[in-house]
Amino acid sequence: MRPLERFAAALVLVAPVAAAQAEPQPYPAAEAQTLELTRETIALRSVQGEDNRTPEVAQAYRRALLAAGWSDDDIEIVPVDDTAYLIATWPGSDPSLGPVVISAHMDVVEARPEDWQRDPFTPVIENGYIYGRGASDTKFEASLAVASLIELRRQGFQPRRSIVVAYSGDEETTMKTSKLIAERLRNAHIVLNVDGASGLADEATGAPLYWTWQGAEKTYIDFRLEVTNPGGHSSAPRPDNAIAQLAQAVGRIAAYRFQPEINDVTRAYFEQVSAIQSNAGLAAAMRAFAADPTDAAAIERLRGDVVMNAVIGTTCVPTMIDGGHAPNALPQRATAVVNCRVFPGHDNAEIQAELERVAATPEVTFTDITGDTSTASPPSPLRPEFIDAFAKGVRAAWGDVPIYPAQSSGASDSMWYRALGVPSYGASASFIKESDEFSHGLDERMPLSNIRPGITYYLTVLEELAAR
Ligand SMILES: [Zn+2]
Repeated sequence: MRPLERFAAALVLVAPVAAAQAEPQPYPAAEAQTLELTRETIALRSVQGEDNRTPEVAQAYRRALLAAGWSDDDIEIVPVDDTAYLIATWPGSDPSLGPVVISAHMDVVEARPEDWQRDPFTPVIENGYIYGRGASDTKFEASLAVASLIELRRQGFQPRRSIVVAYSGDEETTMKTSKLIAERLRNAHIVLNVDGASGLADEATGAPLYWTWQGAEKTYIDFRLEVTNPGGHSSAPRPDNAIAQLAQAVGRIAAYRFQPEINDVTRAYFEQVSAIQSNAGLAAAMRAFAADPTDAAAIERLRGDVVMNAVIGTTCVPTMIDGGHAPNALPQRATAVVNCRVFPGHDNAEIQAELERVAATPEVTFTDITGDTSTASPPSPLRPEFIDAFAKGVRAAWGDVPIYPAQSSGASDSMWYRALGVPSYGASASFIKESDEFSHGLDERMPLSNIRPGITYYLTVLEELAAR
């Protein structure tokens, strides 16, 4: 999960009504194991590059699964470059059925110890939190899911569908293992991506406010814009100035608004979030847009809100600029980077053509510099059997909390599955306060109060999904 994705689609002013909380059952062994696995894996510096300890994270999960009855033949740790991925299968009773996949990643983004108050790779438990790189993204959640799965087996459950733990090793960087895993599991029934979406907790009380699942994500694209020019002395300006031409193109792109769009996931988002949106004008615009995505007044209102603006369509924004080589010389080169978050359903070439048309500056050349780290992906379907399973899990764990779907603006492992037609849903068990959102940042942390209800959530959801 990339920075700020957790709330990227959910940062709305809700009427803060804390739900009547459920009293989830204690599972002492799974609770202890969640904490132990989280500590063990945070202590392993699973960062891309030299001494990448991601394979050891995979080994930690492997040991836990072996001790709980998984067969050695059913656990694979596959090395790829300096990292590795993990695929561990609990065979179902009906091998003809596609498996339920639990997806997460074992790598973390770099953390510089000198910037942190605590050492990022020494897990610390304090004031009800566990601190360390990966606490929220996503070693806690990956450990919670494994410990819950082990608990499910301990209880004697026999899945009809196989349940596969599929943990990637480079989600934060190249996504090479993410792509490989998705290709191997392209027959999956459903992917439960435990890295992505989650619940928002009340700032004062910590009580759950609402829970989201992620059913779609925008595509990430970077374009480099470049103008070259013979240049010359600044005392004798030519009409074709590289900086001026680039600036013209960039200015037009920045001012451009893409055609608003809607899909099943964002329509459900607008319909359901409008009910808990405390700003009446915004709520009305959300409902109007869900009913008619060409409603000009609704579009104008939603564009005035930075979060909503990102939900209603593609956005492209200049993020870097560079040009010229001396104060007294005509520029020979000027370059800029434009970053796009593309509404599902468009490929890179289509967006590039649209930007070239908008820029209307033929001297500017466009190059797609995104690389292989992103792919276009369709929204996952709103299949009742999946949505009902999530809802049942949430209610068992946290009571009557509002639930709504979201489309996020960034990239998770789900896009590789969706691109192959496999339904994938971001649906983690963590509720955090907005002020506790530190993934990728300093002093990343996770409230330990998520452990107990989280186990109930995973037991319920996995049992639902694997039994049919
Ligand atoms: Zn992540």
